[in-house]
Amino acid sequence: SSLLVLSSPPPLLRDPFHHSLRKMASHIVGYPRIGPKRELKFALESFWDGKSSADNLQKVAADLRRSIWKQMADAGIKYIPSNTFSCYDQMLDTTAMLGAVPQRYGWSGGEIGFDIYFSMARGNASVPAMEMTKWFDTNYHYIVPELAPDSKFTYASHKAVSEYKEAKALGIDTVPVLIGPVTYLLLSKPAKGVEKSFATLSLLGNVLPVYKEVIAELKAAGASWIQFDEPTLVMDLDAHQLEAFTKAYLELESSFSGLNVLVETYFADVPAEAYKTITTLNGISGFGFDLVRGTNTLDLIKSAGFPSGKYLFAGVVDGRNIWANDLASSLSTLNALEAIVGKDKLVTSTSCSLMHTAVDLVNETKLDGEIKSWLAFAAQKVVEVNALAKALAGHKDEAVFSANAAAQASRKSSPRVTNEEVQKAAAALKGSDHRRATDVSARLDAQQKKLNLPILPTTTIGSFPQTMDLRRVRREYKANKISEEEYVNAIKEEINNVVKLQEELDIDVLVHGEPERNDMVEYFGEQLSGFAFTVNGWVQSYGSRCVKPPIIYGDVSRPKAMTVFWSSMAQSMTSRPMKGMLTGPVTILNWSFVRNDQPRFETCYQIALAIKKEVEDLEAAGIQVIQIDEAALREGLPLRKSGQAFYLDWAVHSFRITNCGVKDTTQIHTHMCYSNFNDIIHSIIDMDADVITIENSRSDEKLLSVFREGVKYGAGIGPGVYDIHSPRIPSAEEIIDRINKMLAVLESNILWVNPDCGLKTRKYTEVKPALTNMVAAAKALRKQL
Ligand code: GLN
Ligand code: ZN
Repeated sequence: SSLLVLSSPPPLLRDPFHHSLRKMASHIVGYPRIGPKRELKFALESFWDGKSSADNLQKVAADLRRSIWKQMADAGIKYIPSNTFSCYDQMLDTTAMLGAVPQRYGWSGGEIGFDIYFSMARGNASVPAMEMTKWFDTNYHYIVPELAPDSKFTYASHKAVSEYKEAKALGIDTVPVLIGPVTYLLLSKPAKGVEKSFATLSLLGNVLPVYKEVIAELKAAGASWIQFDEPTLVMDLDAHQLEAFTKAYLELESSFSGLNVLVETYFADVPAEAYKTITTLNGISGFGFDLVRGTNTLDLIKSAGFPSGKYLFAGVVDGRNIWANDLASSLSTLNALEAIVGKDKLVTSTSCSLMHTAVDLVNETKLDGEIKSWLAFAAQKVVEVNALAKALAGHKDEAVFSANAAAQASRKSSPRVTNEEVQKAAAALKGSDHRRATDVSARLDAQQKKLNLPILPTTTIGSFPQTMDLRRVRREYKANKISEEEYVNAIKEEINNVVKLQEELDIDVLVHGEPERNDMVEYFGEQLSGFAFTVNGWVQSYGSRCVKPPIIYGDVSRPKAMTVFWSSMAQSMTSRPMKGMLTGPVTILNWSFVRNDQPRFETCYQIALAIKKEVEDLEAAGIQVIQIDEAALREGLPLRKSGQAFYLDWAVHSFRITNCGVKDTTQIHTHMCYSNFNDIIHSIIDMDADVITIENSRSDEKLLSVFREGVKYGAGIGPGVYDIHSPRIPSAEEIIDRINKMLAVLESNILWVNPDCGLKTRKYTEVKPALTNMVAAAKALRKQL
């Protein structure tokens, strides 16, 4: 019988690739949690509305986690992440893990449950929510931790461990993912009252003991790898901040014995100093880099070298976009890297968590076949990562690679991508300047003569609550279930109600409420050429909120007017000024999936030209106030100083292109969903809008500090006087308080009174009393001025 064994070699040796047969090393940084059909969103909202139980929410969440893990396991992924799921936000999860609950939420110890967790996220009847801000340069928002010198940390949420165990029980060994201690602290803010005196990083020694407990528990549960996300490593850091990484990971080193540790970075390349700092840390087994945005990292690895015996997690599959990977080009990158780091030490990965891309292309039944062949969503990217890892290990699937090459070629040569006329017009804009003829103070005088507004004029940002009825009408019209006439009448009635309500509330500059729009970018994209749309291409924005970014695949143009019909209809219903409402080019760009075959600024100039035509058509139709939302201008800012001036230059230029041609008497408003402007205030002034409204109330008037420090500002400005992200209704006194704080730094004749942002996610039962109080506050203050 021994002969028999010899004559039948084990299958392994018969493999034609046996000389290079290695484990296929593939890794996913993180995965979307919202679900392919937004299952988590619906479960959360129904729980918050008291319509379903906490158990139901837990079950939906567990089902999602299971299907995500299974999917990655089935695709052959070796390093599958856990704890990248969250019921709200991964930073808030870390706050819970560390027991860093601000006192006002009344937490009295013990494991943190939904009540405390969601109070921090969303506020409750008596306490406002914690601040929310953008996660790096994405459209995802995280809950900003609030820390003070006396903050106490205790291990108060065992989520990372229980998710690891949950996956293990399903037979899947995962890599638990934690936000690294240094990134956590660098993204925290000093609590009220200690802003000046305190650096959150000084708490490093206090948070590490909790991290040690978590690590020990994960190890005991059987984890063999832990991933620490330290994306702040891609930022401009000073020596002291870099030292914190060394300190933290040296101190954790003893807990790492018997474990492999991955330090993961993303969203840009890692600067040379930071690269040196982390790659010289002994206790770390692997380093993850974004090789899509991190265009210099490859050179850095080549020139600075890579520590021997360590793993390189190479993020070649783009987690921020929906384009299919160019597999041949990625494979050659991987081959080059393998030559440096050595065989068996290279892991194919995504550039960042896939939560910043759409979930699954399988559910896109309405997409044109040619365009669909150019795309890959999260589920497809998992397959791409594995195909690359297989190819690297000597198991190249030729069919997959040749289909991919064919799709890349079709995208390059497709006539639907190119419009020569648009290309020429956009190219002509570069290098020239576009400005309004008169300066802002003269324009404001001219506008006031026509508009005749009271001091502290009141307005809103654009949208009014979107009721179920309204959504149904839009849906039925899209599905051809109701006629155009029925649709127009329904929307007209809605606009009429919104106009009447604003007149009753005695608001000064009205809006039409945007009932015809389900999304401020999609609405315009649908009417512009060069855009494609998905049915389920949702990406989480914050909490249960998702956006469905359009896909810009070709040159952009505007076949016909987009908003004039509704805006003139709304204006005809009132004698008060009605704002025309547009989304600006930079925001359309930043909130879309943008083509990666030409520079972003070229696409932005094309959109600017299309919006310019719309602005001019609105003006010609008699609209005197036009708001061009640039909600997302700030978030497109490159993460490091070196890239910022160039971005701001073309972004601000694009905005000015849209309105440089209007009359002095036409008032141009813009709106921004961000208050952290201190660093770009001069660019904002350079946008030269007549009035800017800014989200403000959730960040403790951070914005006002810019003006306190003496920045000259002469245009109109409306820092939001209450938070629209929370159901809480602000009192008139509270609003008066806020406005008084603004009046201390801003001239009363430039100040506007408005909410933080659009009202579409709120209910009328919240909006009516809130706006009543807002108008009452403005009126009370007018009497005193
Ligand atoms: N005009 C938009 C609205 O009110 C602005 C939304 C936004 O800034 N995100 O809905
Ligand atoms: Zn906004």
